Order: sequence, then C-alpha cells, then structure tokens
Amino acid sequence: MIQIENVHKSFNQLEVLKGIDLQVYPGEVVSLIGSSGSGKSTLLRCLNGLETLTSGKIVIDGIELNYTPRVIQQIRRHEVGMVFQQFNLFPHLTVLENVIEAPMHALKKSKAEAIESALTLLDKVGLKDKKDVYPRKLSGGQQQRVAIARALAINPKIMLFDEPTSALDPELVSEVLNVMKQLAEEGMTMVVVTHEMMFAKEVADRVIYMSNGVIEEQGPPAELFTNPRSDRLKSFLKRVV
Ligand code: ADP
Ligand code: MG
Repeated sequence: MIQIENVHKSFNQLEVLKGIDLQVYPGEVVSLIGSSGSGKSTLLRCLNGLETLTSGKIVIDGIELNYTPRVIQQIRRHEVGMVFQQFNLFPHLTVLENVIEAPMHALKKSKAEAIESALTLLDKVGLKDKKDVYPRKLSGGQQQRVAIARALAINPKIMLFDEPTSALDPELVSEVLNVMKQLAEEGMTMVVVTHEMMFAKEVADRVIYMSNGVIEEQGPPAELFTNPRSDRLKSFLKRVV
C-alpha cells in the first residue's frame, strides 16, 4: 500500500531523512517510534505531500507521488487521511460541519449524502450526540475523535497519525487509542507515530525505530520490545518505558 524507496529529505543543510526504505502492506498497522528530532513527522508528512522529497521515491496505492498538484490532490482526497497532535478542527464549524466539509467541498458530495456518512462516522467514534456542538466545548479527547472522524470522511485507504495522544491529558488518552484500535481491527492500513508503547505493543503489527534519519531497527512488537538489538534502541526503550 505504501512503498518508500531510498528517501532523502533535507531542509537546507540539515539532512533529516537519510535513505529510508519501507513498505507497508494493506491492512498493516505500523508504529513509528524514536526520539524527538529523528524524522518521524517529516516522513509522515512526505507521505501525504505536506513535504516534498529531496530524492527517492514514494508510491501510495500504486500512485507515484511526484508532488504535482494533481497527484497531491488525488492522494489527499482519496488515499490518505491524517490526524495530527493538535486536533486542527475548524473552530467556527460544528462537529458535523467539520466532518462534512471535505466530502462536500473536495469530493462534491451532496449535503444529504455527506451528513449521512458523517453521522455514521461520528457514531463510530462515540460522538453522534455532539454533532451540533462547537469544538471548543469538547474535551481534547473528544476533539481528537472528531478529527479522526473528519479524516475518515474521505474514505481513505491509509490513515496516518502523528502523536495523536501527545497533547491530551492522561485520562483522555485511552478513548482515542480505543478508536484507533477499532480502526486497526477493521483492517485499516495505518502508520502511527506514537510514544504510547502499550499501543505499539498491543495494536501494531510492526514497530519501526527511527534514529537520526534512518530506520535503525524494526520488527514485530513482541520481538522489538523484548529483544532489542541496537544499543540506541535499548537506551531509547529504557528512557520511554
Ligand atoms: P520527529 O517527528 O521525529 O520529532 P521531525 O521530523 O519533526 O522529527 O524533525 C526532524 C528534524 O527536522 C528536526 O531537527 C527538525 O527541527 C527539522 N525540521 C522539521 N521540519 C522542518 C522544516 N520545515 N524546516 C527546517 N527544519 C525542519
Ligand atoms: Mg514529530
């Protein structure tokens, strides 16, 4: 579903991604872990066209990401949904209006059709009863669940999550992780940058440890967490667990 070949990315003199090779299979849940600054967000942002590559190749669902406006639009409208640390909801729109925005304006769905799908999605994330509320009236966990519903509204084939629970109070983390877990069980292809090692352990099929712009180590969570090989990963796990 995702093919990443020898991807390099620099910001001026700073080389942030130093030759990433990675394939993600349909229905696979991949967790990206690693210290702050290791390039996790940059890699995720390259996958939906928020950053361009310096060199290398990314193919999403058979579409080569050449970063032309047409392809970026295709990727964002039909292939990839993304959820950020900061929920990024439109503050002046209600929950329902947030979720129908992309289907109506980007996908040109009728309002009735967009509302019907949106209500199904809001039900799925447990927030149908909040449909007419503005984001500021919601808790962080609720806002993030709306953000997930909004990302799902384009019916993406892949969902990218960049530290979706990092901005939440601890007691609100699990309600968001549970929604993600449910998505994973339904077979969504997911790439999740997370500091929640429990989520990585329980839900991910594969964990990728990034360090300083390279994939330092990867494997099934049971293996990677119990039997890390590289010293960097060992000391990273000591710090975060
Ligand atoms: P992570 O998500 O693993 O913490 P990032 O991908 O956000 O790491 O950042 C990796 C490095 O790239 C950091 O040193 C960061 O400062 C730098 N960086 C990220 N985005 C930009 C940008 N737009 N311009 C310049 N440097 C950037
Ligand atoms: Mg980041």
